[in-house]
Amino acid sequence: MAKPQNPKQSLQSKVPSVDKVLRQDAVVALAEIYGRTLTTHAVKIFIDEARTAIQEKGEGAFGTLSEASLILSLNNWLEQKSKPSLRPVFNLTGTVLHTNLGRASLPEKAIEAMVSVAGAATNLEYDLSIGNRGDRDIHVEELLCELTGAEAATVVNNNAAAVLLVLNTLANRKEVPVSRGELIEIGGAFRIPDIIKRAGAKLVEIGTTNRTHYVDYENAIGPKTGALMKVHASNYVIQGFTKEVTGKELAPLAKAHDLPLIEDLGSGTIVDLSQFGLPYERTVRETLAGGADLVTSSGDKLLGGPQAGLIVGRKDLIRAIKKNPIKRATRLDKVTIAALSAVLQLYRDPDRLAERVPTIRLLTKTEPKIRATAETLIGTVSEAIGHKYKVSVVSCQSQIGSGSLPVEQLASAALSINCVGERKGTALKKLATAFRTLPVPVVGRIQDDALVLDLRCLEDVETFREQLGKLHL
Ligand SMILES: *Cc1c(COP(=O)(O)O)cnc(C)c1O
Repeated sequence: MAKPQNPKQSLQSKVPSVDKVLRQDAVVALAEIYGRTLTTHAVKIFIDEARTAIQEKGEGAFGTLSEASLILSLNNWLEQKSKPSLRPVFNLTGTVLHTNLGRASLPEKAIEAMVSVAGAATNLEYDLSIGNRGDRDIHVEELLCELTGAEAATVVNNNAAAVLLVLNTLANRKEVPVSRGELIEIGGAFRIPDIIKRAGAKLVEIGTTNRTHYVDYENAIGPKTGALMKVHASNYVIQGFTKEVTGKELAPLAKAHDLPLIEDLGSGTIVDLSQFGLPYERTVRETLAGGADLVTSSGDKLLGGPQAGLIVGRKDLIRAIKKNPIKRATRLDKVTIAALSAVLQLYRDPDRLAERVPTIRLLTKTEPKIRATAETLIGTVSEAIGHKYKVSVVSCQSQIGSGSLPVEQLASAALSINCVGERKGTALKKLATAFRTLPVPVVGRIQDDALVLDLRCLEDVETFREQLGKLHL
């Protein structure tokens, strides 16, 4: 006589085996798309979940094992897992160079250059004219020299790496006097005092937060001094009773003591941005001409290129930098070099920069033009968000971002979405989440009880409009 089973055991025995599920036509089709291993993994997860649910709830839990329900769950799970983690978003925050959103969008030419080298062997470090080992910097060095007037140049992973590398090369076990007004912190744990320390150098703080004088530098120089350094204040400004010694004023002092003068320009720009109606920023060329021996800057701030650190200046110093193992540890890959080289090429034709370099294009977009885009979108947005919300076109101020020109604001226009009725805070959060979970997530900012979508950085208006039908509110 068969042993009587308890009812839960008999239910468990009705759960299909993993193999059986995998043989279903719809699951075979999923395996074609997502691969056998991942699909099997997913089936195991759902069968395990069903077993646990049956143990706890009994017969009722069988619903999740119906063929239609299981296929739907598998499909959703696999689709979700296979989405790239890093994806494009619409940056409607009003901050053009948004570090958390990946800073500069690259020019078409740079994208083409990246694609062309990504899947192929390249002459990255191979001199095709002699058929022998070459130097990866040559793909950008000549351009950098031409555009900045520098004798020599090298590039690394980002400006933080550039500063670390420069200081370690020139001032390891030596002292570096820096004005207290320039001991800045940039987002993401970049602090000048920490970098100097990690570079093996000793920071000598001079002057005060608001005022530093020539004599402060003079007094700080001693037998252990390795370099003089100036840092662009980037993301903050000192106003009022202030005094700063410029690089130009400092250069003769550095020269007299045979010390290199380093200037970390931060954002750095290689063209005068005032020609595009933007606020003036001292260029790399002007900084070198003012007497700096080395200038460091970022590739993905105002330059509008890929993440990179650019180091330009005196030939002998660049040569020493290139020999430092930290240069090897922070070098650029072929794809980034391709992008950087393409972006620099565009700077040879400054007249068309505002058209071709997205960062400059976005920064120079006029308020009436942005407002016009807002007007064309208000109807569709209004329809998509329903009657619980009200949308209007408002004036707003965009920021450059990434510590570039922190107090300068650019007149812009936005769609501002308010909630009508009860529970405004919750409704607003729900709205922001709905925009963030669109196929191309939309990131705005919440301000004065409204979701503000600054349209300065909206270029692909059609994709934005089309996906609004998918808003789940
Ligand atoms: C942004 C910035 C850096 C860091 O540059 P990354 O390219 O982000 O590494 C360093 N110094 C200054 C003055 C900056 O503004």
